Amino acid sequence: MNQSAPLDANPLELIACHECDTLHRIPELAPGRSAHCSCCGALLLHNPKGGLDRPIALNIAALLLLVLANAFPFMTLQISGREQTTTIIGASQALYEAGMAPLAVVVIITTLIGPALVVISSLYVLLGVRFRLPLPMLRSMLSWISHLQPWGMLDVFMLGVLVSFVKLAGMADMVMGPALYAFAALIVISAAAMSALEPHLLWQRLGLPGGQPHAR
Ligand SMILES: [Zn+2]
Repeated sequence: MNQSAPLDANPLELIACHECDTLHRIPELAPGRSAHCSCCGALLLHNPKGGLDRPIALNIAALLLLVLANAFPFMTLQISGREQTTTIIGASQALYEAGMAPLAVVVIITTLIGPALVVISSLYVLLGVRFRLPLPMLRSMLSWISHLQPWGMLDVFMLGVLVSFVKLAGMADMVMGPALYAFAALIVISAAAMSALEPHLLWQRLGLPGGQPHAR
């Protein structure tokens, strides 16, 4: 389907194809519809069937999982009768106390602060746009989301945990805590939340249609 319109409109409403740079003006899409480039057929914009409700639900789920992943024990280690239980924040604190302050800061930023900021700012913008709330700084928040996303490195942290899990397997008994399962679910849900978020649609509804986020 091609919903591109001729270039006769307000220049603010122009959107550039990310493949061939052809400019289009795209009207507001109905749920479940997509707009494709009239030259090369590349997907310009997609309005998911669930509208903004789907990314809102996914971001609320991600926020709950983030709280669970930090509120419960991540892992319990048993060596020679001694038992040590840790949380993500506890692991970061242990790194700090072991003289690895920069690593502790990186862990806390990429596993807690970065993902929390992405989820909270996404929810702020999504709820503001969905319910037409007169919230301040909606546009600034929307542009921050793309800058904040690279700071969420949940999968890298999980990979590190799995590597240490395999290395320690012969030396100690390890019991996975509820936070580990919450963290694994959080990786999947936050990836789904990110892919469900269509910045173009949000820019369009905020009155600054898609050109900005698509610009190369
Ligand atoms: Zn194109």
